[in-house]
Amino acid sequence: MPARWLFADQLGPHFDTRGRRVLLVESRRALTRRVYHRQKLHLILSALRHRAAESDGVTLLQTETYGEALARFGAPVRVYEPTSWAADDFVHRLREAGTVEAVDPTPGFTMPKAEFARWAGDRPRVRMDDFYRLQRRRLDLLMEGDQPVGGRWSLDHDNREPPPKGVTTLDVPPPYRPREDDIDAEVRDDLDRWTRDGTVRTVGADGPRLFPVTRREALAALHRFLEHRLGTFGPYEDAMLAGDWAMAHSLLSVPMNLGLLDPLEVAEAAAAEYRAGRGTLSSVEGFVRQVIGWREYIWHNYWHFGRDYRTRNHFRARDPLPAWFADLDADAVEAHCLRDVLQGVRDRGWVHHIPRLMVLGNWGAQRGWDPDALAEWFQTRFVDGYDWVMPVNVVGMSQHADGGAVATKPYVSGGAYINTMSDYCGGCRYDPRHRLGEDACPYTAGYWTFVDRNADRLSGNQRMRQPLLQRERLADLRQVVRQERQRGDSPP
Ligand code: SF4
Repeated sequence: MPARWLFADQLGPHFDTRGRRVLLVESRRALTRRVYHRQKLHLILSALRHRAAESDGVTLLQTETYGEALARFGAPVRVYEPTSWAADDFVHRLREAGTVEAVDPTPGFTMPKAEFARWAGDRPRVRMDDFYRLQRRRLDLLMEGDQPVGGRWSLDHDNREPPPKGVTTLDVPPPYRPREDDIDAEVRDDLDRWTRDGTVRTVGADGPRLFPVTRREALAALHRFLEHRLGTFGPYEDAMLAGDWAMAHSLLSVPMNLGLLDPLEVAEAAAAEYRAGRGTLSSVEGFVRQVIGWREYIWHNYWHFGRDYRTRNHFRARDPLPAWFADLDADAVEAHCLRDVLQGVRDRGWVHHIPRLMVLGNWGAQRGWDPDALAEWFQTRFVDGYDWVMPVNVVGMSQHADGGAVATKPYVSGGAYINTMSDYCGGCRYDPRHRLGEDACPYTAGYWTFVDRNADRLSGNQRMRQPLLQRERLADLRQVVRQERQRGDSPP
């Protein structure tokens, strides 16, 4: 029976290897191609090495390239579908050469690619809401017969609470925290050495490791979330507090994207909490929607939209990312929200979806940064970022660079949104109400600059009608635009 070559994001038991030898490969070249967050490389190497140490019949080869490893292994292998266009091309070349005997559908997602392709067919729009309903029905999650439990498919509107007043943290136990071991120490030594000799380039702070790398750790993280945090997750899933980086989020995207948890087991476990009367429907539904809805929607659309999707550029945004942003130099930033969020990326390689969308992505869209470069930044700086994750999230959802294939309007806002949804503005030298002058909030000024710069391209969008009308009434618009031009790409 041919061995199974598992990639570094296919490490859990649902990637079935029964009766087969297992090949894992640690390719040095794959680590050196891009500048990655230090903790991201640590997680991947630690996960691979732990998987190899855990069970017999696993061969871990440390080579310069994947090709060298396969030649050294010397026997044909089967693989599961990989998670990027480049890896898919590589695997199919190996299939033609006979090195890969078969490519099996990936169990890393609940819906097979072929089923999505049949469903999406020639639809002009592949809407998340439609996809999510299909998923709930076909997986029988939170259903009563053919209808959703509670009568509504999405309780998103109940889940947009600002943070509670007068608190600095949510009143929930902290997330699961793994304990590092000898394998982590060895990974740290290797990364230190490779960084010193210049073969690996990283950004961001080193550990301690905050996320699971083994199946045992991943299950512990899941159970801790379900038991202690899920109940508070829903209402505050969009809220931000400067003193609470994790809020009530699960942080499970990391073990899920390493393939340590089966998304179906995660969603079913959350649904079971609701059935047992331990989780409110708004929290459980919000979480289930993230796992079998949005996560799978972006996975399938990564393939559905094709390999050129990430270069779409509806607003012709071409500016490069400035060095302070690319290098996570949070200390150079005074704007409280952006400074805190960039610090979170620097120190942990993770912030939740609203800082990603409304602080980081919003900033990039306002400044006209190249969406593809920004997607690359998110992919390499976030511990849960992969090639399949960021195009639809960043190019589509955050930058609206696909012209509306994914989202009906750009996710761009002024300081008012951040002020409502966080406690950042109180401690900031800027004022979210001001768009002009010394204390003008750069998000508020940036918002109007964005609307003004892209007015023609936004004019056909009904949801942007109001801001476009408002723009015409802004007496100081030209001054705001001039002020933002003078700011250039310096840190705010
Ligand atoms: Fe951010 Fe503006 Fe609020 Fe400062 S005032 S924290 S820059 S939104």
